[in-house]
Parts: sequence; structure tokens; C-alpha cells
Amino acid sequence: MRCPFCAHDDTQVKDSRPTEDNASIRRRRQCSSCGARFTTFERVQLREVVVVKSGDRREPFERAKLEQSIALASRKRGIDQERLDQLISGIQRQVETSGEAEVPSSHIGELVMEGLRQIDSVAYIRFASVYRDFSEARDFEEFAHTVQQAAKD
Ligand SMILES: [Zn+2]
Repeated sequence: MRCPFCAHDDTQVKDSRPTEDNASIRRRRQCSSCGARFTTFERVQLREVVVVKSGDRREPFERAKLEQSIALASRKRGIDQERLDQLISGIQRQVETSGEAEVPSSHIGELVMEGLRQIDSVAYIRFASVYRDFSEARDFEEFAHTVQQAAKD
């Protein structure tokens, strides 16, 4: 695998072990040219899924993008990474085993919201506010109010 630092083509695997949930293999690699160390993950991909976005744009489903948006929403919330990984793996599994070759991005968004709602209300609101693209502050206030009400129940 190519070194992300110097683009040298030859890197060596120094260590290889399953992650805690046993869903992936974590490899520590070292570049034989510049000596930089980095980590790669090997995961099962059950099938290729295409995400259909607004305006009919299509792109392959990528776990990394899911990780990114969830990491952004849960930033500095002190949520256990293990819980987030489980959420991400769960969503990935649902998407890849749905039997559909194409999944609307709105469906993935709903899955993320559903999952975050059970983990952390602030992360949930953050994700939902970006995802639902609130145009007015008032919408957001109403939404936050709804969440607070739901949290009380
Ligand atoms: Zn290198």
C-alpha cells in the first residue's frame, strides 16, 4: 500500500490484529522509504451499494463518509468510540444487506439520526440540523424543543 506521506509504493505491515468488535483487522504499517507509520483497516464489504443523493446524483456507499459525518456531529461529546463504531457498523450492515443496489441518502440519514438519538441528544441535534438543512433558525428551535420533549418522556 502506498505511503500517504511520501507516496512511496512499498510499505511494510508491522502489526496485524482484529479490532475489539472483531469486525475488522487493524494493521500498523511503516513506509520503507520515509519511515512514517500509519494504520489501515480491513473490513468486510458485503456488496456494492450506490447512494442516491438529491438532484439524482449517485456515488458509491463509503463507510469513511459515514464515519466522518458522525464524528463531526459527536465532536467533543465524550462519547465512547466503541459505541459510535457499533452504530456505524450497524448502519453499514443494514445498507449492504438491504438487497437494494441503490439506497437514498435520506434513508441513511434517518438511520444515523435514529442511532444518534439513542446515544447523545446533542450529537443528534447537530447531525439533524445539518442533515435536514434548516433554512430558518425558527425551524431549528422547534426541532430542539421537540427533542427536549422527547427526552422527558
Ligand atoms: Zn513514506
